Amino acid sequence: MDDPVIEVTRLHKAYGSTHAVRDVSLTVRRGEIFGLLGRNGAGKTTTVEMIGGLRRADGGQVRVLGLDPWADGARLRQEVGLQLQSCELQPRITVREALDLYAAFYPDPADPGALLAELGLAEKASTRFDRLSGGQRQRLSVALALIGRPQVAILDELTTGLDPHARREAWDLVRQVRASGVTVLLVTHLMEEAERLCDRIAVIADGTVVATGTPAELAASVRTGRTLSFVPDGPVPDGLLDAIPGVHGISLVEGRLVLHGTNQMVQDVLVALAGAGLRADDLRLEAPNLEDAFLDLTRTEKEAAA
Ligand code: ATP
Repeated sequence: MDDPVIEVTRLHKAYGSTHAVRDVSLTVRRGEIFGLLGRNGAGKTTTVEMIGGLRRADGGQVRVLGLDPWADGARLRQEVGLQLQSCELQPRITVREALDLYAAFYPDPADPGALLAELGLAEKASTRFDRLSGGQRQRLSVALALIGRPQVAILDELTTGLDPHARREAWDLVRQVRASGVTVLLVTHLMEEAERLCDRIAVIADGTVVATGTPAELAASVRTGRTLSFVPDGPVPDGLLDAIPGVHGISLVEGRLVLHGTNQMVQDVLVALAGAGLRADDLRLEAPNLEDAFLDLTRTEKEAAA
């Protein structure tokens, strides 16, 4: 499990005065689905382009299967399948022709027919690229990334623009790819996708990795703690709940009292209410999720101040 397949250390890349990637370090282990999660412009694509050998880093180090992607580009391309954000092919090329064309670049490619069947594209084999739906194009781009039988697949915003059904199908596809022994590096800005699909995630903000962990670990790291809400069955005496140390904030939303605070606050609030002869109706307790963690980690200083 600890077998590192991608090792990135203090990576840096600037475009003129824009420092797209400032300081990115991460390790992807064999057999995992690793997510790179960040807002638009955070530096995700630039990072995976350097990992895939398409861009040269200004500083830091990348090793993929022990290879330097820039210096050992030819060998790396035999082992790494890339699916980049926009897959543009000749409009008139058919699905099968595109796969055959890509297969010709590899000494021992996968069988195009079998790959199309696996990816649910068999009946589209003779359909032209410009007649494919968004979801079918995405499937084709994954097929093209896998045709060389890579050990590692890099998928950049695979599900952008897909409807919820097609997105779920794409997730199943990624799971299927991993089950076949391929390590997956997935770029996304969709929280649900990261949460459902990834074994581990690196959150990137402003060109830097600000947190790494499993979705559950990241969610548990959120500073905002728990949210408790309920409808009191009578007026709550002033100061009763504010005085509880674990309560960090109270608001009234459509007749419900909403309290933010620590896990410990829950018990203390209920005891305080009972002491005042009150009951908490329709009680709800929410734990922070990955989205809370993401918002917390990637908030700009201006947003935090607001
Ligand atoms: P998105 O989710 O919007 O695709 P991203 O996290 O993948 O964003 P990048 O595409 O890596 O981010 O871009 C990081 C920063 O670098 C942005 O400020 C972007 O404008 C800039 N940038 C990216 N590519 C280039 C380029 N070829 N020339 C100049 N600036 C670039």
